[in-house]
Amino acid sequence: MIKRFAAELVEESKVLAAAVAVLAVSNTVNTEYFATFDKTNSELTKTSGAYAVTPQQNTVIYINKTGNKVGSDILRRNNINMYRQTCTNLLEQPPEKVKEWLNGFDAVITDCDGVLWVYSNVIEGAVDAMNRFKTIGKKIFFCTNNSTKTRQQLLEKSHSMGFDITAEGMISSAHSTAAYLKARNFQKKVYVIGAGGITGELDAVGIKHSEIGPDVMTSTLADYLATSFRKDPEIGAVVVGFDEHFSFCKMIKAASYLDNPECLFIATNTDERFPMPGMVIPGSGSFVRAVQTCAEREPFVIGKPNPSICEWLINEGTIDPARTLMIGDRCNTDILLGYNCGFQTLLVGTGIHKLNDVEAWKNSDDPEQKKLIPDVFLPKLGDLLPFM
Ligand SMILES: [Mg+2]
Repeated sequence: MIKRFAAELVEESKVLAAAVAVLAVSNTVNTEYFATFDKTNSELTKTSGAYAVTPQQNTVIYINKTGNKVGSDILRRNNINMYRQTCTNLLEQPPEKVKEWLNGFDAVITDCDGVLWVYSNVIEGAVDAMNRFKTIGKKIFFCTNNSTKTRQQLLEKSHSMGFDITAEGMISSAHSTAAYLKARNFQKKVYVIGAGGITGELDAVGIKHSEIGPDVMTSTLADYLATSFRKDPEIGAVVVGFDEHFSFCKMIKAASYLDNPECLFIATNTDERFPMPGMVIPGSGSFVRAVQTCAEREPFVIGKPNPSICEWLINEGTIDPARTLMIGDRCNTDILLGYNCGFQTLLVGTGIHKLNDVEAWKNSDDPEQKKLIPDVFLPKLGDLLPFM
């Protein structure tokens, strides 16, 4: 079985080929991870499954009964950090314990909206805290599901607020979407429901796309179908992100393209909504669900909590998951990404989710809700400054 598996892996890549060596040398079969087989391939069983681990020890490759590779996944190490999924308020801990916790990670990945800033307003203490992380030797990354801006625009916004961050440290769902298509050698055209962040990143990698902006019904549906609606035969993917001009016409086009099973369906992210004082603004997830319902297909989601938004950092060995801290204000994206990647997690109270949400998940019997519980909590990121 291993020989056959090895031959397949050697064809795929050097990294995977190296994994064979690990498998052959250590006969790496570990029951600790068999639980994840269920979601990868329902045919796998505990006694017939096996996995190999990449040289960086962070990717699991699944093998089925006949020795074929059936999938891969980020290795969820037993995270042994001191506060694992307890949502401990660090302000109630002795200072020496907080300092010990600070020494437990070398890399920091932080969400932006609700942690560093709210719209155009920087959150008190966030700039000093992130810059201090950097000066004490930690690698820092900003990771946002916001697809309305290009990575360059996000970088300029961050610099204007005083954050010391580089383009390489900026991870966005729009940039990752373009990188995903580029990595697949996508040669066709993208139908975009979204904003300039997506089209700007597609332009940057030379991928053609539809125009963005208003597309509304000005007459009857019958007139529209007879005179205005024409399918572009070049379209090979539909990308859905945040679009303040989301419309019935865009739904018709997206679902019609997606009726072709070969057309890719990609969602930049699935954040449901953005509460504001006295109102609720729909998030990308609302538009994605609408298209998904109409197309009767599930999208591939690029953004948090899907590890695909940052797994290249792990695969390249830039970060060690067990020594990486994920900071966020939304648990079903940020904290769940941390859970999915085996990162340590910090929830800050300056955005979407609050301590009473976490209390409800702690009391729930639903294992999916348990995944949303962060390791530690702070009212705001700047509260860390006295300990650094
Ligand atoms: Mg946020």
